[in-house]
Amino acid sequence: MLCIRCKKAETKVVDSRDDEKTVRRRRECLSCKFRFTTYEKSEIPNFKIKKRSGALETYDRLKIYRGIIKSLEKRPFSEEKVMALVDDIEQKIIALQENVIESHLIGEIVSQRLKKIDEVAYLRFISVYKSFSSAKSFASEAKKLVSDKSKN
Ligand SMILES: [Zn+2]
Repeated sequence: MLCIRCKKAETKVVDSRDDEKTVRRRRECLSCKFRFTTYEKSEIPNFKIKKRSGALETYDRLKIYRGIIKSLEKRPFSEEKVMALVDDIEQKIIALQENVIESHLIGEIVSQRLKKIDEVAYLRFISVYKSFSSAKSFASEAKKLVSDKSKN
């Protein structure tokens, strides 16, 4: 979004708060540093999540947020970065344009994103989401991560 003062530069989001119907974003101009707030109608994503049990539930961005926060605990990520990551993941999910999305697909999207930014967070996330039945399967996933890395 362009700066409303100088209209020359893009702005970055420095803070973002959701309530039920609007997203309040605090923005800062990358050029003149002017700060302003925008209120955006949240695009309430209109789809359901199909859980492993087959049950449908309404999509809730907070669940993704909580999962990520948990995985990133004590890792060097600011609140701003986390919000941007959640936004990003949500956009990806919305872009699927499905009415029903299986929860494991969302888990996949989140884990792929985390894999790119923080390996510890990635392993933490998949350890919950894949609910490894043993330390051995967890260790083999960690090993795979290391070998994938050395290939790249
Ligand atoms: Zn400006």
